Amino acid sequence: MPARNILVINCGSSSIKFALVNEDQPQFVLSGLAERLGSPEAELHWQRGADKDSLMIPGADHRLALAQLLPLVQSAAGGQLHGIGHRVVHGGEHFTTACRLDELTLTAIRATAPLAPLHNPANLQGIEAAMRLFPELTHVAVFDTAFHQSMPEYAFRYALPEVLYREHGVRRYGFHGTSHRYVSQRAAELSDLDYGHSSWLVAHLGNGCSTCAVVDGHSRDTSMGLTPLEGLVMGTRSGDVDPNLHSHLARTLGWSLERIDALLNKESGLLGLSGLSNDMRSLEQAREQGHAGATLAIEVFCYRLAKSLAAMACALNQLDGLIFTGGIGENSALIRSQTVAHLKLLGLALDPQANAKTVRGAAGPIQAAGHPRVLVVPTNEERQIALDTLELLDH
Ligand code: AMP
Repeated sequence: MPARNILVINCGSSSIKFALVNEDQPQFVLSGLAERLGSPEAELHWQRGADKDSLMIPGADHRLALAQLLPLVQSAAGGQLHGIGHRVVHGGEHFTTACRLDELTLTAIRATAPLAPLHNPANLQGIEAAMRLFPELTHVAVFDTAFHQSMPEYAFRYALPEVLYREHGVRRYGFHGTSHRYVSQRAAELSDLDYGHSSWLVAHLGNGCSTCAVVDGHSRDTSMGLTPLEGLVMGTRSGDVDPNLHSHLARTLGWSLERIDALLNKESGLLGLSGLSNDMRSLEQAREQGHAGATLAIEVFCYRLAKSLAAMACALNQLDGLIFTGGIGENSALIRSQTVAHLKLLGLALDPQANAKTVRGAAGPIQAAGHPRVLVVPTNEERQIALDTLELLDH
């Protein structure tokens, strides 16, 4: 049988990220982004091998952008497209694994929209447009939350009255599940360990950041909660704050819920602490030049990350390794070394040379000799979504 091609689609409210994955090729056959959808500046960018191109698609919505994409995908796939994998942010408690999309599963995804009002409706828009354009293909949904459905109740419940959980779904769900699953599997492969009998701490550090404890192939705890705001310091998100901050700001400054929501999601994190940028590269450069805000932002980021990893260690009986991934985790030797410096009680220490050179897509161990394993593993959520789609095609 020839190697199969899967189109992976990730729809935001005004964008579509896409990648054409061939099961036998490590690199994407085609990848790109349609952005500013619904506006006169809507544009489609794509890359095929070393070739890059773009096309203005003024006023295009999700459906029109996908229609423009169709000939590109067909040509790159040699007319052989076997299925479409869709990223969906929230699967609530209903979805514990990837699923085939049909009327029943679409209804269940619509029902979880109140839990992710910004993301799920956008994901659904893309799914519905793609299903109309490619009705003959199998469509699969892969959820960010599904991997974390294996958390025990004592890890996913908040200390709130039960009625909020039972009747309103207020609990910890966790996100980045596709990434945590992909890199922990890769870490087991790279270390010659049986994934089904291995224990990992994972730090996914991108614009959004989360930690995860993975035991025997299952998520046992993770730092994000009901929404992707809980936990670590992120690009513009605060991560954990005292929950009374809301009433404090409302009482003392008269701030509305919307104002506080924007503060915590868009103006905080690295950006808020540094007063400079949400981008770790810029902060590292500013720190080199003695910028106090950037220096503090990096210190808080690393300390809070280390604290979260130490907390996640409660879910493990043994530690087979700590994994760094995401744009920051894969590239920043500074963040890795400052974080590990706070984790001496776990016995962790890095080899400075290995740490410095394992960047820009390299994978491998970076621990000092005789210390527990620390790995850099580039994430590839698109590939994982394609693998999940192929698995459902096979069954
Ligand atoms: P992601 O969301 O996974 O694309 O990650 C984005 C984050 O990775 C941003 O904060 C980038 O500044 C950061 N990043 C990418 N490359 C580097 C690098 N070489 N050094 C430090 N941070 C980086």
